[in-house]
Amino acid sequence: MTRIFSGITPSGHLTLGNYLGALRQWVAAEHSPSDALFCVVDLHALTVEHDPARLRRLTRQNATLFLAAGLDPRRCTLFVQSHVAEHTRLSYLLECTATDGELRRMIQYREKAAKAEAAGQGVRLSLLTYPVLMAADILAYAADEVPVGEDQRQHVELTRDLAVRFNQRYGHTFTVPKATLPTVGARVMDLQDPTSKMGKSSENTAGIVYLLDEPAVITKKVMRAVTDSGEGGVVYDRATRPGVANLLDVLAACTGGDPEKLAEGYAQYGPLKRDVAEAVVELLRPLRERHAGLAADPGEVERVLREGAERARAIARPVVDRAYEAIGL
Ligand code: ADP
Repeated sequence: MTRIFSGITPSGHLTLGNYLGALRQWVAAEHSPSDALFCVVDLHALTVEHDPARLRRLTRQNATLFLAAGLDPRRCTLFVQSHVAEHTRLSYLLECTATDGELRRMIQYREKAAKAEAAGQGVRLSLLTYPVLMAADILAYAADEVPVGEDQRQHVELTRDLAVRFNQRYGHTFTVPKATLPTVGARVMDLQDPTSKMGKSSENTAGIVYLLDEPAVITKKVMRAVTDSGEGGVVYDRATRPGVANLLDVLAACTGGDPEKLAEGYAQYGPLKRDVAEAVVELLRPLRERHAGLAADPGEVERVLREGAERARAIARPVVDRAYEAIGL
């Protein structure tokens, strides 16, 4: 059976990008014959400036949204990364196989380090080593597939490299995983800055659709989305018309259509935006409704996470023990 692992960092409120790029694929995976684990990767939120109370709140809220999005704890394992010590145990071993140069090349490291420096904050060492911890997250479960958005592809490639290197040097220990990306929605862009991805920790929230935004707020954000000037009305061209292409991508991801074909149905931006707003509101409606019920019963979410951590530990421990043995400890 295919083993699937993926996670989301509780560094902010979950966005439409997280849903279309990751969560929605997770829900689909849970219904295929597979053995899936999904994790709130809270240790990753410590790699940049953070507030402890907010982190605790967001960890619970993200987990609640996993359930609200349709993940069923009877079909998959839901847990919090820091509840399972195997992640950090394995991370150290992998740090001893990765190189400094390899990690400095990571695009996300370069972007986030530049941001921290610009804000006058030190660059935490964990920001550099974060992809190694992510590799440990995946390898500890012998995952075959990692459903992620486009921005995580490079980190999954590194995970593969580390797994292959460890196996060659110390004997076969790890399953070499592969990233699986959605065909549409793999890279949802910021509505106000369509050259940047829609990220949950972005400061300018006007271009970010959060999963728990009220329908009126979603509509307002979409109607105010930046569109491109240019001749020829509504055309799909990611390079020269990124704003419109993003709206068409979102519409395609919500309705199941093809963005280029959808463009042919519009002569102006106004009607396109109205349809995008409606499609997003409808897509997220069931999630919002389920979230309201779940948020009223936090004890149930805690129970799911406790049981999930036990199941996760039972899978990861023998894999990590094997790695310790193989490396000579
Ligand atoms: P963020 O970048 O919003 O902080 P994470 O790094 O926690 O999100 O990523 C969680 C998952 O959501 C990953 O699989 C990532 O690829 C996906 N993801 C994040 N942002 C987007 C986006 N704008 N479009 C598509 N997928 C995304």
